[in-house]
Amino acid sequence: QPRIAPFRRVLLKLSGEGLMGKQAYGLDLEVVQRLAVEIKEVHDTGIELCLVIGGGNIFRGVSRAAGGMDRTSADYMGMLATVMNALAVQNFLEKVGVPTRVQSAIPMATVCEPYVRRRAMRHMEKGRVVIFAAGTGNPFFTTDTAAALRAVEMTCDALLKATQVDGVYDADPKVVPEARRFDDLSYTEVLRRDLRVMDTSAIALARDNGIPILVFSLHQEGALAAIMRGEGAYTLIR
Ligand code: UDP
Repeated sequence: QPRIAPFRRVLLKLSGEGLMGKQAYGLDLEVVQRLAVEIKEVHDTGIELCLVIGGGNIFRGVSRAAGGMDRTSADYMGMLATVMNALAVQNFLEKVGVPTRVQSAIPMATVCEPYVRRRAMRHMEKGRVVIFAAGTGNPFFTTDTAAALRAVEMTCDALLKATQVDGVYDADPKVVPEARRFDDLSYTEVLRRDLRVMDTSAIALARDNGIPILVFSLHQEGALAAIMRGEGAYTLIR
C-alpha cells in the first residue's frame, strides 16, 4: 500500500554535493549521466518533472562570506554556480533523449530562458523537463527554499529531496551507526527537533502550502523510479 497517492507532477531537488560524486569539488559527469538515466525512467512513465539544482559543489555563499567576502556578492556567485550545474544536467538529459528547458531566476538571455512561471508550466505539459537555475534569484536564500518555492508555484504533488542517505535519521548515520530512520515525520516535528534535512524556510514553505517532501538516497540506483511507484525506502514529511 503506497503511503502517498500517484504522482502527476513532481519537483526533484538535486544538491551540488550530490552531483560532485566522490570528488572534492565540481562535477562528476558519471553521476550526472546516471541521474539523467534515472530521471528519464520516471519521465517515460508520463510523470511531469521539474528540477532545482544546487551549487554547493562549486560555490557556497555563506562559507565565502565567512572567509571575508561580502555575503550578497558571494551569494550571487553561488547562484551562478547553480546555472553551470543546470547546463550540465540539461546536457546529459538531452543526450538520453529527454527534452528540457533551463530557466534561470537571474535572466541570462543568451544562456537559457528567464524564469516565467506560466511558460514553465506549459513546458511541462508538453513533456519537457524544466530545470530551474539560480535558486530564488535572491541572496540569503538556498536552493532548498527555491525548490519549495518552485514546487508550490508549479503546483507539484511532491518535492523529492535527494540526499546522501535514504531518509531522515535522528542522528547522522555516518557518525552514529545506531541512528534510526524515520518513515514518516510532520513538518512541525522536523522544525521542533531541528532535523537538518532542509533549511527551515523550505520546510515552512512546504508546510504552509501542503507540499509533501520525500527524502531519499541519491546513491541508491533506481530509488527515484521506485519512490514514484510508491515503493522503496524514504522518509515522508507532511
Ligand atoms: N543561493 C542564493 N539564493 C538562492 C539559492 C542559492 O544566494 O535562492 C546561493 C547561496 O550562496 C548558496 C549557493 O547559491 O550557498 C549554492 O546553493 P546551495 O548551497 O543551496 O546548493 P546545494 O547545497 O544544494 O548544493
